[in-house]
Amino acid sequence: MKKIGLAALVLCALILMSDPLSASKNQSISPEAAVQKLIEGNNRYAIGKPERPHQNQDRRNEVAQGQSPFAIIVTCSDSRVPPEILFDQGLGDLFIIRTAGNVIDDSALGSIEYAAEHLGVQLILVLGHERCGAVDATVKGGEAPGHIKELVKYIEPAVKKSREKKGGDLLENSIHENVLMTVEKIIESRPILNELYEKKKIKAVGAYYDLDSGTVQFLEEKKEKEEKKEDIVIDK
Ligand SMILES: [Zn+2]
Repeated sequence: MKKIGLAALVLCALILMSDPLSASKNQSISPEAAVQKLIEGNNRYAIGKPERPHQNQDRRNEVAQGQSPFAIIVTCSDSRVPPEILFDQGLGDLFIIRTAGNVIDDSALGSIEYAAEHLGVQLILVLGHERCGAVDATVKGGEAPGHIKELVKYIEPAVKKSREKKGGDLLENSIHENVLMTVEKIIESRPILNELYEKKKIKAVGAYYDLDSGTVQFLEEKKEKEEKKEDIVIDK
């Protein structure tokens, strides 16, 4: 059984990697347009008026032979953070990588590379979220069991950096820092992603999902707002 499972997996991977229709059918949109689509979808979801696009049989038929997602989403495995729902998207729209704490190992980087290089997706969004259990466990410290140790290892640098920061909540700061560090890791990943980034063929941004309000806030936006706030204080 195991052998059959493995063979099926390898076959799937080969089909995925060699699918000519995926690339030829690609109609990738700019990172700015992709962000706009995500914002609009999240607005619809947050106010309770989702359109649930691309979830019918027609769409299934449309994308069955090839995909051209408009965004890569790297987010947490947390059951409360499903990207298609909170961005109000459907089949074939988002290429998603999920791990607890939205950490990325080599397999995750390989998945991002596939979507960016082969499918031509230009936007990579790293989405952290409120009350992230993986980050919380890292903040609390102690010996993590089994492979959870691996996750903690990836999140620890963000927590360490946040401990040095003055003000704010340690968990919140760590969640934000963990997102930003993942963004950095993606754009610095050599050779493929860094090269695409340098050629301005991809853009990576961080965002934060609020479990209570259902809204996604882009971290660049937030940083700018915080800087503006500081300016106001200085002006006084
Ligand atoms: Zn989480």
